[in-house]
Amino acid sequence: MAESAKQTDVAIIGAGPVGLFAVFECGMLGLKSHVIDALDMPGGQCSALYPEKPIYDIPGHPAIDAASLIARLEEQAAPFAPAYHLGQQVERLARTEDGRFRLTTSRGTVLLAKAVIIAAGVGAFGPNRPPLDGIETYEGKSVFYLVTRREAFRGQRIVIAGGGDSAVDWAISLADVGARVMVIHRRAKFRAAPESAARLDALAKAGKIDLVIPYQLAGIEGANGQLAAVVVADLDGKTKRLEADVLLPFFGLSMNLGPIAEWGLALDHHHITVAPATCMSSAQGIFAIGDIATYPGKLKLILSGFAEAALAAHAIHPLVHPGEALHFEYSTTKGVPGKI
Ligand SMILES: Cc1cc2nc3c(=O)[nH]c(=O)nc-3n(C[C@H](O)[C@H](O)[C@H](O)COP(=O)(O)OP(=O)(O)OC[C@H]3O[C@@H](n4cnc5c(N)ncnc54)[C@H](O)[C@@H]3O)c2cc1C
Repeated sequence: MAESAKQTDVAIIGAGPVGLFAVFECGMLGLKSHVIDALDMPGGQCSALYPEKPIYDIPGHPAIDAASLIARLEEQAAPFAPAYHLGQQVERLARTEDGRFRLTTSRGTVLLAKAVIIAAGVGAFGPNRPPLDGIETYEGKSVFYLVTRREAFRGQRIVIAGGGDSAVDWAISLADVGARVMVIHRRAKFRAAPESAARLDALAKAGKIDLVIPYQLAGIEGANGQLAAVVVADLDGKTKRLEADVLLPFFGLSMNLGPIAEWGLALDHHHITVAPATCMSSAQGIFAIGDIATYPGKLKLILSGFAEAALAAHAIHPLVHPGEALHFEYSTTKGVPGKI
């Protein structure tokens, strides 16, 4: 049932790392934020896809695992008391007669905002599923498209399918956790970073990982969602059975802008085109930052998204407080609420 509208200065769509930092940047300029995310936890790709992996290119953190980065960003945003609306997708975005924006979510939450920041990453992201009969009954029980905690797989016979970075990185990471780790790929060569592919080879030579190549998934066997075996086929269609407890298919993410594609914004190959100096989209008052935003020279890095959050916040201030002078100030001068 629709709730009464919640009013805010800025509605931020997406609680990934970039959306979370936008709360801070807006907060520093006195702008209140509400944040909406389709996932039921903050952190976007960092939380959903690689929480335990160290990130090495966050300035000031020689290494920080993705989950810790998200925890720090939440802590940094907390003094500005953002309201989070998690587990709900923004479905509709419309302009009101008084020039504000009305956002409506899949759970009926309605927000009225003076500006909108879209920090929706790759949109509604979901895994590319292998076309195996009955796979849905195993999903979430013994077939997983994401690994959030490697310990969950300790002592298990794990089949990993795929030839890219995720498949190779997780095979390496799970090699000392699983009772057996088997990697299926339809080619002899892996598409992963050369160092990772070399580590995979070394682990295979040491007998820690079984490379099942060139093979592809052909079927799954089991009952009540619990896998018993994965059937693989070679390029001639000859099959063999791998006894297994868990299947991890890593065939990439499907990018789906979802409802955002219907909002009339200028797009370039599923990304929102923005003016690089402000991150404003083709619509006045609607901004896009992070992975979803594009402009010449765009780098899809968390650190680029952080800078874009600062640019957008500064461009939003005059829209929310017209006529009020905005004096550029360092955080060292201003401080943050609750800290000296
Ligand atoms: C395995 C892996 C390793 C990586 N390593 C690095 C690295 O070392 N360094 C680096 O800089 N980057 C790395 N990246 C990329 C980095 O994770 C992304 O650049 C970053 O997550 C982008 O942040 P974002 O906030 O723009 O989007 P996201 O993290 O994608 O978050 C967007 C959020 O928006 C939500 N959303 C989308 N549409 C809607 C909607 N309509 N309504 C509500 N919510 C919505 C999604 O649910 C999601 O939670 C890596 C990515 C992967 C997959």
